[in-house]
Amino acid sequence: MGGGPAEVKLVSNAMANATRRKIMAMLVEKDRTHEEIEKAVGGSMLDYHLQMLQQAGLAEAKDGALILTEFGKNFMESKAEKPAEAKKDLAGTKPLEITEIKQLLPCIADSSKFRVIARFSPPLGGALKVLEPLFPRARYSERIGALIIQRGNMLITIYSTGNVTMTMIGSEAEAKQITEGLRNTINEAITKGVTPVPREKVKVDHMEIYDYLPKTNCQVCGEQSCYTFAIRLVASETSLEKCTPLTEEKYATNLEHLRTLLEYL
Ligand code: SF4
Repeated sequence: MGGGPAEVKLVSNAMANATRRKIMAMLVEKDRTHEEIEKAVGGSMLDYHLQMLQQAGLAEAKDGALILTEFGKNFMESKAEKPAEAKKDLAGTKPLEITEIKQLLPCIADSSKFRVIARFSPPLGGALKVLEPLFPRARYSERIGALIIQRGNMLITIYSTGNVTMTMIGSEAEAKQITEGLRNTINEAITKGVTPVPREKVKVDHMEIYDYLPKTNCQVCGEQSCYTFAIRLVASETSLEKCTPLTEEKYATNLEHLRTLLEYL
């Protein structure tokens, strides 16, 4: 298995799913038959999951059983220390419940999408930081006390207080599905320890920043336009604070979102 972008993506996709991570954890213990795996994780889409692991070069079929490849063994060994460490840090953390999903507001960057606010209970507090390796594109920000997760053009921010904000959501049903998925992934980590997934670099560009600026071209920031400000902000040649209109109440959500995006720069 090479280490090129295509291979990294295959591994990343294979390990992005909780069922496949569970299968890999089982294979670390010993080789497993199809029946043993089915008994542990269920038969739903099992062939697909096994195919994903084999395509990624993590596992292979041998003598009627599924075994880890050398690459799969090395991959799991490289992750072995972190789960134990993480589990220790999650000691005493209680499983999450979703207490609310609300405020389906139109999204600022795309009015056909929604901004959703949900709430997890109990709050995760400092344990949030330990959860960062669970997601391919995530970053824990000490400054805002939140775990920021990127999925496509969707941005999910889980705050240490338990609040969760999600942008670019298509429907209430999608918001519910995502929130439940997050809860399940985090609860699995609380009970079994964190299984890190391959990380992907998050790139924020100036157009994404521009989408959330007031777009009035008032020049208070000292720039010719909001577009120029966005370019200079991405280049770290100016600071968000210079756009003082963002402190107006009507831009409160924009400001929150921009602060989140800037964590990725
Ligand atoms: S101060 Fe803000 S709104 Fe005004 S031009 Fe600069 S970036 Fe745009």
